[in-house]
Amino acid sequence: MMQTPLLLTQMIERAEKYFPKKEIVSRTESGIERFTYKEWGERTRRLASALNTLGVKEGDKVGTLAWNHHRHLEAYFAIPCSGAVLHTINIRLSPQHISYIINHAEDKVLLVDPDLVPLLEKIKDSIPNVEAFIVMTSGPLPETSLDCVYHYEDLLKKGDPAYSFRTDLDENAPAGMCYTSATTGNPKGVIYSHRGIVLHAMALGLADTTAVSERDVALPVVPMFHVNAWGLPFASVWFGTKQVLPGPYFTPAILASLMEEEKVTITAGVPTIWLGLLNEMEKNSYDLSSLRSVLCGGSAAPRGMIKAFEEKFGIPFMHAYGMTETSPLAVIAASKSYHDDLSSDEKLDIKAKQGILVPGLEMKIIGKDGEVAWDGKEMGELALRGPWIASEYYQDERSQDAFRDGWLYTGDVVTIDEEGYIKIVDRTKDLIKSGGEWISSVDLENALMAHEDIFEAAVVAVPHAEWQERPVACVVLKEGSEGKVTKEGIVEFLKPQFAKWWIPDDIIFMEEIPKTSVGKFLKRTLRDQVQEKTAQS
Ligand code: AMP
Repeated sequence: MMQTPLLLTQMIERAEKYFPKKEIVSRTESGIERFTYKEWGERTRRLASALNTLGVKEGDKVGTLAWNHHRHLEAYFAIPCSGAVLHTINIRLSPQHISYIINHAEDKVLLVDPDLVPLLEKIKDSIPNVEAFIVMTSGPLPETSLDCVYHYEDLLKKGDPAYSFRTDLDENAPAGMCYTSATTGNPKGVIYSHRGIVLHAMALGLADTTAVSERDVALPVVPMFHVNAWGLPFASVWFGTKQVLPGPYFTPAILASLMEEEKVTITAGVPTIWLGLLNEMEKNSYDLSSLRSVLCGGSAAPRGMIKAFEEKFGIPFMHAYGMTETSPLAVIAASKSYHDDLSSDEKLDIKAKQGILVPGLEMKIIGKDGEVAWDGKEMGELALRGPWIASEYYQDERSQDAFRDGWLYTGDVVTIDEEGYIKIVDRTKDLIKSGGEWISSVDLENALMAHEDIFEAAVVAVPHAEWQERPVACVVLKEGSEGKVTKEGIVEFLKPQFAKWWIPDDIIFMEEIPKTSVGKFLKRTLRDQVQEKTAQS
């Protein structure tokens, strides 16, 4: 067979050639803006040429600090298709971590949204190697103390709309990079090659995964600074899919209206987003009948939430699993043809698991005595390998902990059933060990979130003199449920579902559960808060 390289250049050129009329809808600070792929392609070429003029060369890193919008999508292609490396920066990290990753990646130029300029001003003295800042706005440049600041649209005006994207790159060359938070210390960088991104996008198009196609209207709620918005923008451009980018500071109501107005068919985000949308749909009515798939990953999707989407609102829900290191799609809860005859409860059981391995990847699950049995019970750590799985952390000594013998050890503890469906039991570090036995915080959380008065629940371990660790549940009640439920009531609700020793020692009512920058439960902070509370009482 021919050894032709897999490059992002082919994706954008295909969109320009075959789908010039298809639309990109972008919600920006100036309202809804619309571009065809033809217009967007030209703008992307202009940006690539402007970056070249600013001195960006092959292999240079260009950072983005931005929400989901058309300019960010332009950067997604202009940077790698001119041979440079797209470094998407998580805007919700601490200023120290942002400055660490800008320096560690050696970003030469930064593209930044106007509202995020103050964030860079705070750290400007600690990032001396950045040569230019480009503010992504159509309005006036904000007043700023940053030096070497350019206006995005002015640069585009001067750029070349016929710029030739690079077709001579090595498919294994870096195209993108993203940092993931570490349990301790600084974030760790993951490099995505052109080849990895293209093959991952191909996987998103498979009928038995997310089946992204030209007929879809895709709305990635997951931020473009979080694992490339799960690869949706890349797949959508390649396949000519209409894209709806929700921009900054959206609310559940804004999302629901966008979905209704633009007839969105596929959307992706973490469970917190979908809990918010459910809440909104319960309060106000929207026609979301165009939705064929609500893709959910990043943390476990509670069974009760899946049930509400599917049975109350008739919206198909798709649970998936992955991580920054896996591009991210690795496992997806697609049912098999012979599952069609199962009861709705049994189908829900399948949907609530993370799913089966995506074609193209390999996995093993290592338990206490080697690979675990496919019995849905024995727990082990999931290890993965494949063409879109990272092989190391970028210039980081911590690589050797996770990457061993050609495998990525995910740090996720799972079980696998007879049919090959994986269930994430916990992160290795979040499992609760009580009297030498493991308790899954995820299972308890799922059960709690199925309670009609509970909005969110997170379970953490607290140290215990006799049992080493015991579970404590932190619970946020739904609006209007305050005073309706007691700790004892919740314990009674859990009792029939779990062994006695799994029942949390305490239930703490909270206003809010602390979350990570991408909306997952921040277990570290929660553990500290709970330990403080238990020490006080
Ligand atoms: P990140 O690299 O920030 O995307 O985080 C990846 C981690 O999120 C994984 O290692 C899992 O611990 C967790 N995760 C991702 N998807 C799921 C899921 N569907 N269910 C449970 N945990 C998940």
